[in-house]
Amino acid sequence: MQSTMMHVKLTLTHFLERAGTLFPDVEIVSRMPDKSLHRSNYREFHKRARLLAEALQKAGIRKGDRVATLMWNHYAHYEAYFGVIASGAVLHTLNIRLAPDEIAYIADHAEDRIVIVDDILLPLLEQFRAKTRIERVIVVPLTGKPVPEGYTNYEDFLATASGDWDYPEMEEDDPIAMCYTSGTTGRPKGVVYSHRSQVLHSLVQVMPDGIGISGHDVILPVVPMFHANAWGVPYAAAMIGTKMVFPGPHLHPDDLLPLLESEGVTISCGVPTIWLGMIQILDRDPGRWKLHPKLRLTVGGSAVPESLIRGFARHGIDVNQGWGMTETSPLATISRPLQTQPDLTEDERFALQATQGYVLPLVDLRIVGDDGVQPWDGKAVGEIQVHGPWITGSYHDLPQSESSFTADGWLRTGDVAAVTPEGFVKITDRTKDLIKSGGEWISSVDLENAIMGHPAVAEAAVIAVPHPKWAERPLAVVVLKSGRTVDAEGLRAFLVDKFAKWAIPDAWEFVDAIPRTSTGKFLKTALRERYKDRQW
Ligand code: ADP
Repeated sequence: MQSTMMHVKLTLTHFLERAGTLFPDVEIVSRMPDKSLHRSNYREFHKRARLLAEALQKAGIRKGDRVATLMWNHYAHYEAYFGVIASGAVLHTLNIRLAPDEIAYIADHAEDRIVIVDDILLPLLEQFRAKTRIERVIVVPLTGKPVPEGYTNYEDFLATASGDWDYPEMEEDDPIAMCYTSGTTGRPKGVVYSHRSQVLHSLVQVMPDGIGISGHDVILPVVPMFHANAWGVPYAAAMIGTKMVFPGPHLHPDDLLPLLESEGVTISCGVPTIWLGMIQILDRDPGRWKLHPKLRLTVGGSAVPESLIRGFARHGIDVNQGWGMTETSPLATISRPLQTQPDLTEDERFALQATQGYVLPLVDLRIVGDDGVQPWDGKAVGEIQVHGPWITGSYHDLPQSESSFTADGWLRTGDVAAVTPEGFVKITDRTKDLIKSGGEWISSVDLENAIMGHPAVAEAAVIAVPHPKWAERPLAVVVLKSGRTVDAEGLRAFLVDKFAKWAIPDAWEFVDAIPRTSTGKFLKTALRERYKDRQW
């Protein structure tokens, strides 16, 4: 016997059509560089995303070609999220916070052909464009100033389309978007998403037991659209016609609070650093902001301190923690009490919210230690491994990356956790030698190699240490060559042209020797223990 169900391809263009048909008047609000508000809606979004798709095809973009964005969060980036995909091309969101050389590598490795860039980010583009194969630059005139010669104005580009156009043939497994993630050693690695992966991710994301976004919500994604699909929010929001509020380049809590208030935002999402800053402002002046009574936050990207969850609860704002990676689209677990746990005390609820939560439907999760798969007893720890329809099974054009995957095809996440008998994941450690500062990765290995390139340095080890604002900051432990001197300022200056400013350590320790393992490697666990209580 066979099922009688139709075989329908799961494609994101369905969401675009649905948004234009069912939710034309729902607003899309974007903050511009001058802090004024740009107002659009899903009617415009639908029309302009399709114009972009047609214009890209007219400009010679073919199925599977990469079209990059170098943009903040705003209406045009939202249009690109769908317009690029609708043309059959692959949207490649470039991380504007990386050093120009890193962006150049990523854009070149992905073979980006066209880049759509905010006018205010053109100076950044010009620092790396020559090292890429980018053929054409489309500039979004956010400031309203004339677009410099040699570039195409985004509005003029849209005007090359007629509007009389239809989608190309698509398969649900076709590539639609890509995003690079930092590696512990070596170069960043590209993850390529499909229609199917993001459709399924969207469906699970909007479930009440997922993030629980509805068409009645107003959502403000603080998480940049160049980070892991902005956690999938743009796709999910278009699917259900949620009003979008984009912060543009203004991510400081002082700027976000008035926007949350004036637009009646009910869900916002971002890394802990943003909210750690905001809670201080709210605590200082509790009654000042008339925030929506249903406002709640989805926080992830780094562990969410219980104190932050309690802090927002004092203002009536609920915090849901999510865990995931660029490799996992990104949502894999979410922290909300289960229906089987109705009688939790307040303390138990907070403790639960401070875990990474339980795994979402369609994703399988296990923890694996030296002696195999570990029990879910809340004590045994192991590396989190995941498997599912929105989990990457390889990296783009990187054959030597097998160590990220197990022989039976699960993703090795590099996060170490225990799982409670109820299924709540508690991350305890990380095997990746990386530092996550304010939601952005810094490679310890790259820093160590660069610091050891200084003529006065014999050895250097860089570790992540907890930081009250940035979640983590790099701390460099340095041994000088005998008879040579250099101080922290000298070393910082030495790194200036090699790293983004925020990636350079601001904490330095000069020691006689770095503890080592029996095999001669730096014993980073000992260093992390030694400096874990560092005052900032
Ligand atoms: P994203 O852009 O979603 O932060 P990345 O791939 O850059 O994705 O980072 C994923 C990594 O961030 C995870 O493997 C984990 O180390 C860390 N991470 C993400 N969410 C959490 C969380 N809720 N708690 C602890 N660590 C987290």
